[in-house]
Amino acid sequence: MATALLIIDVQNDFTPGGALGVPEGDEVIDRINELAASYAFDVVVATRDWHPPDHGSFDERGGPWPVHCVQGTHGAELHAGLDRSHVDAVVDKGQDPQTEGYSGFEGTELGQLLREEHVTAVTVVGLATDYCVKNTALDAVKEGLLVTVDMAAARGVAPDTTAAAIEELQAAGVIVREGE
Ligand SMILES: [Zn+2]
Repeated sequence: MATALLIIDVQNDFTPGGALGVPEGDEVIDRINELAASYAFDVVVATRDWHPPDHGSFDERGGPWPVHCVQGTHGAELHAGLDRSHVDAVVDKGQDPQTEGYSGFEGTELGQLLREEHVTAVTVVGLATDYCVKNTALDAVKEGLLVTVDMAAARGVAPDTTAAAIEELQAAGVIVREGE
């Protein structure tokens, strides 16, 4: 059995100053770098929201979000503060224009990658707690994994949806480790 750290969408567009900046989104980076360097995890995976220019989640297409994380743009790059030296794989998600692509498992090779590495437990961190962290953690439960979300290394878009996400995660059997 092996453990994995899943670093969700720590990208320029999701950090302050970005197209869809999450409040305090950059404050997760030091904690994530510590976790990735801790050798508590056998596998470290970073996901990127990686949308085509016509993605259905964009407001100009009738979706809920401003244009963000368009493939190949600066905004879609991983934040420069994220220490890449401990990241074993980068998984791109949200490439299908017709689906939300919140979850790192949706339409990606992540599930297969974790099975090949015999991963049985994952810790999910990053941005944002109420959307992509939540949906990735819920899909990880469906994959049969033991799932922890480390709140010290995650931030949400809004307080009410983040509180609801925590309840939903706990109801699904996810261990929610509170931030200090
Ligand atoms: Zn997106």
